[in-house]
Amino acid sequence: MYYKEVDKRYKELMIKYLRKHFRYNAMNSWNKSTSYANNIKLYNIDKPADVDDDTFWEMIGLTEWQEKLSDLLEDFGRKYDWNWQAGINGRSGGYLVLYKGGIKPSGYKSYCTHCGQKNYESVPEGQIGTCGRCDAKARVNFKQTHMQVFTWPGKSTDEYEDFTDWTLSEIRERVELVQDFDRLCDTIAEGYIFICKNYRIAEEEILVPKTIKVLEPV
Ligand SMILES: [Zn+2]
Repeated sequence: MYYKEVDKRYKELMIKYLRKHFRYNAMNSWNKSTSYANNIKLYNIDKPADVDDDTFWEMIGLTEWQEKLSDLLEDFGRKYDWNWQAGINGRSGGYLVLYKGGIKPSGYKSYCTHCGQKNYESVPEGQIGTCGRCDAKARVNFKQTHMQVFTWPGKSTDEYEDFTDWTLSEIRERVELVQDFDRLCDTIAEGYIFICKNYRIAEEEILVPKTIKVLEPV
């Protein structure tokens, strides 16, 4: 649906593919910078006849689908060492955008083995620290520098690029990246249809604890 074959022997065919690819804002519309993107408004894709209308509309908002979607996005980012990431943008999350990013040291030096809380202070050699959140004496230093993923949401990709001074292999590499991004969009659409075909949305009642105020004799 999104993925297109490109004859990667010819520079001009590859450039045409890149220049013609759909683009969307890499941040807000006022920022004006754009990147490769696809419209993934899932309710716009062809709904298979055997999928119920309500399911098709409601599944987008379900936690299970949202988790599946973020797993797919995470796999994509990890594959490119987070130098390239796929992220959702646009009102009602209708667009998947290719972002630039990376990883950098987070600054966290230690963490609580009990609750997972991270801390900017390191624990002195040979000691165990106290956790600031759960008070457990379980705070230890990270063995390796703790890293975090960052995204450059406002950074455009190839926006004014005419590719004339790119080598054939540089262009090919970029085409393969964008094709892989398109393939991800196909996987998302297929995954969505699969869930809609194989599951139905059921309702379940849950009890939510609530704090109330009561009178107590003094
Ligand atoms: Zn803790």
